[in-house]
Amino acid sequence: MEHRDKVRLLEADRRYVWHPFTQMKDYAERDPVLIERAEGVFLYDADGKAYYDTNSSWWVNVHGHAHPRIREAVNRQMAKMDHVMFAGLTHAPGIELAERLTALTPDGLTKVFYSDNGSTAVEVALKMSFQYWQQTGCPDKTTFAYVEHSYHGDTIGAVSVGGVDQYHSVFRPLLFGAHKVPSPDPRGRQDGDAEAAAAQALEAVRHLFEASAGEIAALIVEPMIQAAGGMILHPASYVRGLRELCTQYGVHLIADEVAVGFGRTGRMFACEHAGISPDFLCLSKGLTAGMLPLSVTMTTAGIYDAFYDDYAKLKTFTHGHSFTGNPLACAVALESLRIFEEEGVLEQAAAAASHLQQAAARLAADPGVAHLRGLGMVAAFDLYRDRDSGERYPWEERIGFRVYEEGLQQGLFLRPLGDTIYFWLPLCTTAAQIDDILGRTEKVLQRMSR
Ligand SMILES: *Cc1c(COP(=O)(O)O)cnc(C)c1O
Repeated sequence: MEHRDKVRLLEADRRYVWHPFTQMKDYAERDPVLIERAEGVFLYDADGKAYYDTNSSWWVNVHGHAHPRIREAVNRQMAKMDHVMFAGLTHAPGIELAERLTALTPDGLTKVFYSDNGSTAVEVALKMSFQYWQQTGCPDKTTFAYVEHSYHGDTIGAVSVGGVDQYHSVFRPLLFGAHKVPSPDPRGRQDGDAEAAAAQALEAVRHLFEASAGEIAALIVEPMIQAAGGMILHPASYVRGLRELCTQYGVHLIADEVAVGFGRTGRMFACEHAGISPDFLCLSKGLTAGMLPLSVTMTTAGIYDAFYDDYAKLKTFTHGHSFTGNPLACAVALESLRIFEEEGVLEQAAAAASHLQQAAARLAADPGVAHLRGLGMVAAFDLYRDRDSGERYPWEERIGFRVYEEGLQQGLFLRPLGDTIYFWLPLCTTAAQIDDILGRTEKVLQRMSR
């Protein structure tokens, strides 16, 4: 890009654009990176400099950028039909994607409701669960349970079941009440025993259900990884335990796989680690391989049937979005699923993931790296000033932001969550690229400790 075009664009950005999750004043004196092109696991800025997309463009990208088959799928669909509404009309991409998803996801999830982002997929699950109980003779089941440090999106319902105070506390007066249960986070324990942390967290859920299951419609969880809350991992036994408790006490289980779905944890869906089926499954980010906005809320025939009746019984689920079932997005999602199948994506990602988990272990040599953890194509650690004495960086120092800035110097686009540095890699990342990313990260860490 010509230098003067870059200058003009950045000036217009400063003047007109309000970026998400961003203190805009941070950019009063510095420029955001102006990205002009993306290909594979790389982003290229206006000067042609390359950066590894280490967070898969906010956890969405699956097969790398500019995948030729995805581009073809968009072109093919665009030539036929752009967008039409999905009430009173239907179309092949929407039908075929629903059919594929019911075959791929855990057993029992046979109904697919479309929306267009992860937050609304969660809203849909909450509203469906609520309405289900209203229509099945349990009108008192009107509240929800959620896990501390959870993140389920930014719309008001999703924030009501959100447990990240930094994002959510300012909105508390607006929210509906919900029951918070403790996170199975093992980092607070002396022994760091994840199974014990999970068992303890499950006991709290049992206590809550014993006292209040009669007023709880559903419990919502991010299976295997509480992502935005700080890449907090828990063992599969926690997810299994939640499934058992929800069944025992008659509470719906909502699995929010918006972030972890589509191979990121090493399985197509995170629930597979636990071998369970939720009552609702929310999918988005990776659904279209990270190319177009689309989401689904999947549920069981049993729940669907509570809405299926003569019109005059007034049991319709009256919810929908302008872009419900967008054909372009559905066509891209279908193509992504074909790529998974025909290009052995999960097999290649399994090899890359085991390389990532082994290679990341060397980061622990840095005296600032604590609680190194990972699953599949995700690896994370917390940055301390000194791990051994337990000394952290004061929050005002914004060590995560300094890591972001130093990462850019090293050709890495990192976006830490507070002091938690993480990689959330595209499934197509190769072993050599992983080694390169880790080598550059070591350089970033050396700069931090100075
Ligand atoms: C990102 C995310 C959401 C929200 O999705 P949006 O598309 O950003 O609205 C919901 N749940 C989880 C677990 C997420 O990571």
